[in-house]
Amino acid sequence: MKRDVIIIGGGIIGLMSAYFLHKAGRKVTLIDEGDISDCTSFGNAGLLSAFDKGSLSYPGVIINTMKQMLRGESPVKIHPSLDIKLFKWLFKFAASANETRFKRTIMLFEKYGEETLGWYEKIQKDEKLDFDYHRLGMLSVFTEEATYEKKLKECESKDKDNYKILSTSQTKEYLPCGNEKIKGSILFTRNAHFDPKRVMLEMKAFLQKEGVEFILNEKIIDIKFENQKVKCVNSASKSYEAENFVLSTGYQTLLAEIRKKSLMMIPAKGYSITFTMPQELKPKTSTLFNDLFIVMTPRRDSVRLTSKLELGSVNPNVVKEQIQSIKSNFEKYTLPFEMGDIKEWTGFRPLTPNDMPLIGRDEEYGNLVYAMGLGWLGMTFAPSIGKIINELITNDLENKNSDDILMFSGFYQ
Ligand SMILES: Cc1cc2nc3c(=O)[nH]c(=O)nc-3n(C[C@H](O)[C@H](O)[C@H](O)COP(=O)(O)OP(=O)(O)OC[C@H]3O[C@@H](n4cnc5c(N)ncnc54)[C@H](O)[C@@H]3O)c2cc1C
Repeated sequence: MKRDVIIIGGGIIGLMSAYFLHKAGRKVTLIDEGDISDCTSFGNAGLLSAFDKGSLSYPGVIINTMKQMLRGESPVKIHPSLDIKLFKWLFKFAASANETRFKRTIMLFEKYGEETLGWYEKIQKDEKLDFDYHRLGMLSVFTEEATYEKKLKECESKDKDNYKILSTSQTKEYLPCGNEKIKGSILFTRNAHFDPKRVMLEMKAFLQKEGVEFILNEKIIDIKFENQKVKCVNSASKSYEAENFVLSTGYQTLLAEIRKKSLMMIPAKGYSITFTMPQELKPKTSTLFNDLFIVMTPRRDSVRLTSKLELGSVNPNVVKEQIQSIKSNFEKYTLPFEMGDIKEWTGFRPLTPNDMPLIGRDEEYGNLVYAMGLGWLGMTFAPSIGKIINELITNDLENKNSDDILMFSGFYQ
């Protein structure tokens, strides 16, 4: 049986691609090696932060990271490795940390940011879904005087409606658990947050109800090519043929390697700690501890802390020292309180060196489309990516005919 579109990988990118393709009238099959209950798309912060946060490779990132390392507050850990890909990635990351690249990235985040939030709002409304979504802005909290002053200066050139400098008492209102070591805070009003687990489960259930075919607990381990096309993809026991194939396998590159496609993307391990806390101390909105790279997001019944960027590790286990390090950095700037019902989690960001996703058609095998490399912003941009992937397939576009691919895809930058 030949299917229409097969999507391999049911993280947020796979689900959003499935959503837009299904809405365009395509027959979609989604295959995942798991049961879609715990990939990177589940344990992340759920911050929808296209605006005013900046890119990961910003000018000055290397020096700032070294300063953080000296203070013992660095989120970055690079495991010793002889992996040439990691060195190439680090080189490109350092080369991308310049003013021109930074401005271009911010411009693209602005362009897709408004659209992507609009889609989350529309999907919830149209399909009657509940993502625990709140567009209340993102509080940026500064624990270093110098970075606070720098951000205040940057704000002078921004539209005044997009941010609010908070006084000490206003900061306390937004972040009641913050302590007196906090130097200042700015509320960036356009950002939003949601509960990623809820989004994933609601989207999966909706698509299943709509007739999207889900083949779960089925790992795709091989691809067969014929006449410049992918003929089929194979698991250990089955073969699946289709007109079109979408690769949205997150940080995993096995299938791209079989295609001999070298992707400038590495797994960047991160952690989250989800817990209950006294209601009166819960933050009012998502909060970025700017100098610590810690995000705190409130949700209906709990709060989540996320942090860390470990390169060169593929160990899937929670490493206790990393959890401890997040907690102790966080506790330096917060009032003491008891965390209840703690859940620790780790996952891998599919990280490119310049924050650009790896999206677009394979140049040789035209019915193979990549939807990967969303790094630390996959939840944020997933609807925009899903829309772009659908347009590429449904309108039978080549990469060169898609402005979105030419502008936003890391394959062209
Ligand atoms: C600590 C942390 C915090 C984060 N915070 C945020 C945030 O606040 N905001 C934000 O926008 N982003 C955030 N991110 C990033 C975001 O979570 C990711 O960019 C996003 O989840 C990636 O989605 P994905 O669909 O590409 O990959 P995944 O969610 O990893 O999904 C890939 C799927 O592919 C399947 N798969 C892989 N290989 C195969 C195969 N061979 N056969 C079948 N199935 C396969 C896997 O089982 C998996 O289900 C964070 C990430 C981390 C780690």
